[in-house]
Amino acid sequence: MSKTVHHDCDCPTTGLLSVDEARQRLMDAMSPIKGRERLTIRQALNRVLAEDVLSTMEVPPFSNSAMDGYALRSEDIPASGNKILRMTGASFAGKPYNGQVGANECIRIMTGAVMPDGADTVVMQENVNADGMNIEINDHIRPGDNRRDAGEDIHMGDTLLCAGARLTPADMGLLASTGVSEVTVCRQLRVAFFSTGDELKPVGSTLEPGEIYDSNRYTLYGMLERMGTQWLDMGVIPDQRDAVCRALQEASEIADVILTSGGVSVGEADFVTEALEQLGEVQFWKVAMKPGKPLATGTIGKAYFFGLPGNPVSAMATYYQFVQPALYLLMGTTAPEPLIFEVPSAVTLRKSPGRLEYQRGILERDTNGQYQVRDTGKQGSHILTSMSRANCFIILPAECAGVETGERVQVQPFAGII
Ligand code: AMP
Ligand code: MG
Repeated sequence: MSKTVHHDCDCPTTGLLSVDEARQRLMDAMSPIKGRERLTIRQALNRVLAEDVLSTMEVPPFSNSAMDGYALRSEDIPASGNKILRMTGASFAGKPYNGQVGANECIRIMTGAVMPDGADTVVMQENVNADGMNIEINDHIRPGDNRRDAGEDIHMGDTLLCAGARLTPADMGLLASTGVSEVTVCRQLRVAFFSTGDELKPVGSTLEPGEIYDSNRYTLYGMLERMGTQWLDMGVIPDQRDAVCRALQEASEIADVILTSGGVSVGEADFVTEALEQLGEVQFWKVAMKPGKPLATGTIGKAYFFGLPGNPVSAMATYYQFVQPALYLLMGTTAPEPLIFEVPSAVTLRKSPGRLEYQRGILERDTNGQYQVRDTGKQGSHILTSMSRANCFIILPAECAGVETGERVQVQPFAGII
């Protein structure tokens, strides 16, 4: 077991690393976990594919109608004026018409029903006059209208999804549409976490003077559960070196990743760093971001360690900027490219130059329907309502010295639709 401590904060001007640089350096030292399993496609939602999936069939499997209407031969479309066609049968979804469509003939056809032999075009029922025996068509129809071709979506042998894809609801449907019922995915990432602090009490207990409820284990639970990890909540560990050592040791034996919150600054009661120095390898990142610094990372045995700051907003912001992308990497996939764009600020925003800030914002539309953003009010790293009320981060670059109303700022929404 090594006992190395590194300090990574060598930015020439500030002594701090930029967020991007820190994230890159941190992730360069990691590689995906090994192990795979075979799951039904439903079980595989949010999981990461361990191998490419190729289609073994054409989709659609047969040429079919895109509309309720009448199938006919394009040769029968009149060059000008109207024409009468005789109706000789019907093709329903799942109940094909087995005959041939001949000259001056048509059949009734429903959406998704097989295109009958001979016919290559469908006219919508709204565009014909029908009397039950015959239909009258006009010259507005174009050959091939309203026909979906076999293989138009997917060809046999096409790569449907690549190894490393994290399966979405659309992917569930895509796999099902080609008859795939099981896939091979990377095994679930095991993440153990605990809070440190003598002042912390779990919900359900009564607070004594000086105590507060532990909130970080609940935010961490929410973020880890949503990512589809296999999480293990190890509770609150008191500020005692031996207790923290035992918890870290135990976590390193059962988990791929250990997350802690609190106890990583240089306060007197910060035992996490001491324990880590004893058990494994630690690296400190002094990152030029607010809220957030400091961040401790390292390894204990085979497990990766992330020590998040104790302040609840700092813990979340640090998780989103560093831990989440790292977890994606370990899971065998890449973090979705963050959606960041610029909108005008509806308010003035206070900021001192020096560190990049993730202020908490509310992205909304103004009376003209244009997006704008305002902050959530108080921005302290202990103000958890600022995260709960927000729907985005407002990202203010390190050099920014405040924002006037109407100035454009970068926003990063919390949620996409998938
Ligand atoms: P620390 O990083 O341990 O120095 O803690 C910094 C601040 O965050 C202190 O005010 C702690 O009481 C608070 N804090 C630490 N851990 C948690 C937690 N799990 N839930 C809520 N607040 C916490
Ligand atoms: Mg503490």
